[in-house]
Amino acid sequence: MALRYEIIPVTPFLQNSTLLWDDETQEAVLTDVGGESERLLAEVNKRGLTLTAVWLTHGHVDHVGGVVALRGQIDVPVLGPHRDDDFWIQQLPAAAAAYRFPPSPVFTPAQWLQDGDALSVGQYVFQVLHIPGHTPGHVVFYCAKMPLLIAGDVLFRESIGRTDFPRSNHDDLIRCIREKLWMLPPNTRVIPGHGAMTTIEHEIARNPFVRA
Ligand SMILES: [Zn+2]
Ligand SMILES: [Zn+2]
Repeated sequence: MALRYEIIPVTPFLQNSTLLWDDETQEAVLTDVGGESERLLAEVNKRGLTLTAVWLTHGHVDHVGGVVALRGQIDVPVLGPHRDDDFWIQQLPAAAAAYRFPPSPVFTPAQWLQDGDALSVGQYVFQVLHIPGHTPGHVVFYCAKMPLLIAGDVLFRESIGRTDFPRSNHDDLIRCIREKLWMLPPNTRVIPGHGAMTTIEHEIARNPFVRA
């Protein structure tokens, strides 16, 4: 038995929506449904999985723009991000228009997330870590059993998230990466919001933006 995952890049920004599932219970979660909801649900259905929730890292349109469309097709709870990203979700229609994404209505998550919350996919528990900086309400999801980190736009392979948006904070981002991510096991696999996977060990050694 295992926790399995499939990365499904969506939107013109190739945002790494990720399908996570417990291959014993067949329960599944989708992270950051930025768009292409029919394609995401097709991935769930072709594996015969039961989708139990959607988890969101932060309120940017490429990460949450498909929420309302997906909820129109399947009734699952939307969990996250942290409440401090509500102002981004309120701006979704404008952001979708600005980037020429399909219309993206405002929504309210079933639950806002906080640091220390625990979520599960089947028998696998993920800890919620609040990492403000790219956005004030950004959260990431860490499964100690794997170990595996869903990092959103906090940490990329040899890069970090932009902090030139309203209410971004570069110092918060660097401090939280050091305090909360660098102490994860070095072999933790990281699925970033965009681009290739990496590991905590690789980023501690090679990330030019977060020096020891
Ligand atoms: Zn973002
Ligand atoms: Zn992004």
